[in-house]
Amino acid sequence: MADQDYRDDIEETQAKEIETKETEIEKSQRQETVSGEKESEYEDVCFICRRPESKTGKMFKLPQNISVCDDCMHKTMDTISQFDYQGMLNDPAMFSNPAMFGSFGGPEDSDDENGGNKKGFPNIRFVNIADLQGEGGIPNKQKLKKKKKSSAPVLDIKDIPAPHKIKASLDEYVVGQEHAKKVISVAVYNHYKRVATGTMDNIEIEKSNMLMIGPTGCGKTYLVKTLAKLLDVPLAIADATSLTEAGYIGDDIESVISKLLAAADNDVEKAERGIVFIDEIDKIAKKKNTTSRDVSGESVQQGMLKLLEGADVEVPVGANSKNAMVPLATVNTRNILFICGGAFPDLDQIIKERLTKSASIGFAGELKDKYDNDKNILSKVTVEDLRKFGMIPEFIGRLPIIYTLQGLTKEMMVQILSEPKNAILKQYQKLLELDEVKLEFTPEALEAIAEKAMERDTGARALRSIIEEFMLDIMYEIPKDDNIGTVTITKEYIQGTGGPVIDIRTNYLPDNNA
Ligand code: ADP
Repeated sequence: MADQDYRDDIEETQAKEIETKETEIEKSQRQETVSGEKESEYEDVCFICRRPESKTGKMFKLPQNISVCDDCMHKTMDTISQFDYQGMLNDPAMFSNPAMFGSFGGPEDSDDENGGNKKGFPNIRFVNIADLQGEGGIPNKQKLKKKKKSSAPVLDIKDIPAPHKIKASLDEYVVGQEHAKKVISVAVYNHYKRVATGTMDNIEIEKSNMLMIGPTGCGKTYLVKTLAKLLDVPLAIADATSLTEAGYIGDDIESVISKLLAAADNDVEKAERGIVFIDEIDKIAKKKNTTSRDVSGESVQQGMLKLLEGADVEVPVGANSKNAMVPLATVNTRNILFICGGAFPDLDQIIKERLTKSASIGFAGELKDKYDNDKNILSKVTVEDLRKFGMIPEFIGRLPIIYTLQGLTKEMMVQILSEPKNAILKQYQKLLELDEVKLEFTPEALEAIAEKAMERDTGARALRSIIEEFMLDIMYEIPKDDNIGTVTITKEYIQGTGGPVIDIRTNYLPDNNA
């Protein structure tokens, strides 16, 4: 009987606690409900897996404003029912301890004289969930991001810039590669028109996934990055070399979608109209003469087929790998634009072989070395050549737009140095401008830099390292002397046979101005 009274007591105090500990959120929620306006702005999140109610479905509501989703509740119940507590459940003394079952109390709630749970489960302490509430606690509500946005159209068909406008914007950043810029502008325009209208009725417009072929450092990644920035869509850049078939060491193929979701701030809707750029795609070509399982080659190509076409992919939110503790989000890849890029070394040999074979039959036979000096041999690529290279037909078939980028010439290098909106030279000029020093380059100096870069054979990437090398001294010396007004970089300085020309600031020499 005394026990019963005690339990009643505890229940009473608990009820009072709940009343008094009503959190801010609850209060505000009540106010919102009264006003009937902001009610839909917040939704419950599961106390265990942190997923919102829109993802989990109806939740169990516990006291203290705690919600637990169906999945987590079941998991918890399963775990508890499987654990036999080492026969302790048969011990009737366990249940007579109200600190265990009357509340979530720790030692302080126990009626044990020593303040401890002598009869408690070994190594298990019941946490007072109320402690997690309040300022330091985990909020049990989260802002409804998605619902708000879905009311406004994600993409407006009239907002998509026309292809010529996309190309004009690309021109400001990317030098040369006229054909590639044109193809990409049209493809992107069509793709987003398709996404915006959602016309999937009678005539299904096919997805414009692309395959970009071009030597290293010619601007493949740069082109895609610029495009994503201009269109303001999330972009994920993945490296095909790190991908392997699911279950093997390496990244799963679906990890690229995970990256995209992260780039879209975990907004599924935004990610679903993003761009995925997969670099080094030539590295997943079918391995020749291999007897073992090709987990990083052909298998990856096969694994990507579904993604390229459009599939629902379950990806972990805010983590790289799936595990029990990470919530999953479903992303549909149907409207994600996939762009694959690669240098495809030795593809030129395959093309050359095909061309000379077809041209060397009969009287009209041509010389074997006719194509040896053809710089644009890559642009003659066909699907057949790519198959020979090791790409499986189903994979190439899902990349209907295939185009090539040219290797950079000396003239293009000079342009890359000075013309784009964020050209390297402009960046240095801006830096020195802050010290009120003017930086100039003679045209011969620019050519000398381009020549040096051409020797390295790594495309435009070499430009930056060359400039860094000789700018080091200048950036070190100039701030020492306040009188310096202009620095002119000459060809001799680049070639190491002379120094830069330094002019003294004019306002330090008033006589000269007179
Ligand atoms: P890759 O073709 O190997 O992907 P990147 O696109 O990464 O090469 O190019 C490396 C860098 O070179 C870029 O960050 C960019 O600054 C510069 N670059 C390359 N090509 C061009 C180009 N056509 N116009 C302007 N900058 C370029």
